[in-house]
Amino acid sequence: MRILVTGGAGFIGSHFVRSFADEDELTVLDKLTYAGNPANLEPVEHRLTFVQGDICDAGLLGKVLPDHDVVVNFAAETHVDRSIAGADAFVRSNVLGVQTLMRACLEAGTPRVVHVSTDEVYGSIGTGSWDESAPLAPNSPYAAAKAGGDLIALAYARTHGLPVSITRCGNNYGPYQYPEKVVPLFVTNLLDGGEVPLYGDGGNVRDWIHVDDHCRAVRLVAERGAPGEVYHVAGTTELTNLELTARLLDALGADWGRVTRVPDRKGHDRRYSLADGKLRALGYAPRVPFERGLAETVAWYAANRPWWEPLKERAA
Ligand code: NAD
Repeated sequence: MRILVTGGAGFIGSHFVRSFADEDELTVLDKLTYAGNPANLEPVEHRLTFVQGDICDAGLLGKVLPDHDVVVNFAAETHVDRSIAGADAFVRSNVLGVQTLMRACLEAGTPRVVHVSTDEVYGSIGTGSWDESAPLAPNSPYAAAKAGGDLIALAYARTHGLPVSITRCGNNYGPYQYPEKVVPLFVTNLLDGGEVPLYGDGGNVRDWIHVDDHCRAVRLVAERGAPGEVYHVAGTTELTNLELTARLLDALGADWGRVTRVPDRKGHDRRYSLADGKLRALGYAPRVPFERGLAETVAWYAANRPWWEPLKERAA
């Protein structure tokens, strides 16, 4: 397939690109924000076409889109803490960007579109799991902007017949994740002999999935998903942040003396949980057990300091 991957230089998009560069003909369109990194594409850079650009740029999209069979949209502002500090860029890329991209896909007659989204659009759930019909009730500006983009994408499906499907996934972990997110932040801080900041009482629950399973799910939805439908990609392992921290300390041979308690994130969702029967009916099953995936992820950051050290220095 000829696939245009928007946001393909970020964490998940670049995993998708590295995974499918052999079997698909790939174009990456990425704005290269602080989170977009050409180094993420280096292993496959000779097997793809790279375009630096913004999904809000309709003129550019009109030039790049033709001749692609599929568009997969990973492009977004993604860090909840940054959205609390300032939400403008989030609304621009995650809402206006999605609308601009959907309109451009419609005008180009793109045969298939997948818009990648998150479980955070549903807000927080105490017990049980959401299915795809659950109402959207986002709490953070990040989640609200993602929900806005999802609704725009669905409106283009219903109003214009745009063949777009949406995937909503839990918390991803794996290599090449920008070291502001909890797993790479904690791992790299511990590798540097430093401390890790744990929010509030540490009781917030997240459902973790290896980025490789998420990307296989997105590709499957591109092939077999129905237009206008939403598909959940559930994690494999629910953990409180305390439990996650314990596993990372253990993996790095560190103790609780390295953990600094910090005030809770504003509006911090307590728990996310997705039911993924609809995706499994398409033939999906996760492949990466959490223990192995986490061990490999920790080993990757330990072996790839030249990738993350400059990112942490730039952020300091
Ligand atoms: P990321 O922040 O690592 O990467 C985002 C990429 O999008 C970057 O390369 C950035 O340069 C690019 N980008 C941002 N704004 C753009 C714009 N206007 N035009 C073009 N490119 C732009 O994010 P990620 O963790 O890889 O997440 C990818 C997608 O998956 C996002 O849509 C996110 O909401 C969704 N998602 C992420 C997770 C997770 O745990 N990380 C979970 C569920 C869903």
